[in-house]
Amino acid sequence: DSIWDVVIVGGGAAGIAAAASLLKRKPSLSIAIVEPSDRHYYQPAWTLVGGGCFNQADTCRSTASLIPANAKWIRSRATRLLPQQNQVELENGRHLGYHTLIIAPGLELHWGAIAALEETLGKNGVTSNYRYDLAPYTWECVQNLKQGRALFTQPAMPIKCAGAPQKAMYLSCHHWEEQGCLDNIDVHFHNTGGVLFGVADFVPPLMEYVKRYNAHLNFTSELIAVNGPAKTATFRDTNADGETHERHEAFDMLHVVPPQRAPEFVRNSELANEAGWVAVDEATLQHPHYANVFSLGDACGASNAKTAAAVRKQAPVVAENLLAYLDKRPMTARYAGYGACPLTVEKGKVVLAEFGYGGKLQPSFPLNPVVPRTSMWWLKRYAMPRIYFSLMLKGHEWLAGPEKR
Ligand code: FAD
Repeated sequence: DSIWDVVIVGGGAAGIAAAASLLKRKPSLSIAIVEPSDRHYYQPAWTLVGGGCFNQADTCRSTASLIPANAKWIRSRATRLLPQQNQVELENGRHLGYHTLIIAPGLELHWGAIAALEETLGKNGVTSNYRYDLAPYTWECVQNLKQGRALFTQPAMPIKCAGAPQKAMYLSCHHWEEQGCLDNIDVHFHNTGGVLFGVADFVPPLMEYVKRYNAHLNFTSELIAVNGPAKTATFRDTNADGETHERHEAFDMLHVVPPQRAPEFVRNSELANEAGWVAVDEATLQHPHYANVFSLGDACGASNAKTAAAVRKQAPVVAENLLAYLDKRPMTARYAGYGACPLTVEKGKVVLAEFGYGGKLQPSFPLNPVVPRTSMWWLKRYAMPRIYFSLMLKGHEWLAGPEKR
């Protein structure tokens, strides 16, 4: 078999964006993208699907239509990384050889970590915006609920789009408020972590909505089991002394966000950091020991917020630095940890949280970022999907050119 200039594992947001950024700079590169799925999903809109504001089918496109023309799509799954041999093993046993490798297979949703959850998803009022097929069921549950108890859960960090668990709650509450039934619905947010949002600047505007919707916050409260037919959820609560106790809560609707981890073949590889994600230098996105290996997207071990917005800034950095490596030039592109979380606090308003490493605010617009805005709703609802499909996945780096050092 020939040796590829670049093998990219994963053809999601990160894999396609990186391929497009590379080919924009050097069309003659030979690039193979390993991607098992013939469907590609624009996941950020699933929150809107669950809130009845976006069409499910519009979040899905064929992978074939998005693979850059000069790249080769290898429709298979990577099962093993062999960095000492510069090879990736595929599920059919074939080995792909490379000069450089980009690891971008996203993350694994660990539904099985919550006892008896999987068998009741999509029934009994148990739903999740984290799956394409279930996001419309969230909207169905929201519309059907006129009174009772609604629980929304958040697992331990890191997860993709850390704001998404509470976005589901705000959009649901806004609908109930509009319908005049919010007073009859007891809303609880159960967060495994200890804060509402990881960047403190954004907590006050979010707390305004928590109060307005009369939602009860339960911190250090982890969902561990669900009984769908009985409509009860079991939480493990931890108090300030570190003592734990279990409690059972009845529900009429339960929106679950599952624990998340690196895919198994990444976790088990020598390229992983202690937490299982691909080890990288935070600024260059290059592996610390294997200089011809780079990573971006949700599988990458950098400490940014795992978002498609991060990918938009990471892809040009990986492209520049990988080409510098191939040409034996010094790497000059630097990633400052940008990520963004458009918090849909009501239907028609968004708090656009944009920040980098260490929670440093990185607003794209000269506006106070903690204010909920109609303009940012339009950005999220109408502009972002277009920016994603027509710019980011095509290598047009509008507002995303890499910082240089
Ligand atoms: P993905 O886009 O998930 O792609 C990973 C790809 O790798 C998939 O195509 C998969 O088939 C493939 N793959 C998996 N295993 C293998 C393997 N073994 N071999 C080869 N290929 C493999 N981001 C935002 O910026 N803003 C938001 O508002 C936002 N909201 C979100 C809301 C929800 C409900 C969800 C679920 C996500 C949201 N995100 C948001 C996060 C965003 O979707 C992800 O951060 C982004 O998709 C990451 O890109 P990725 O390529 O790393 O992973």
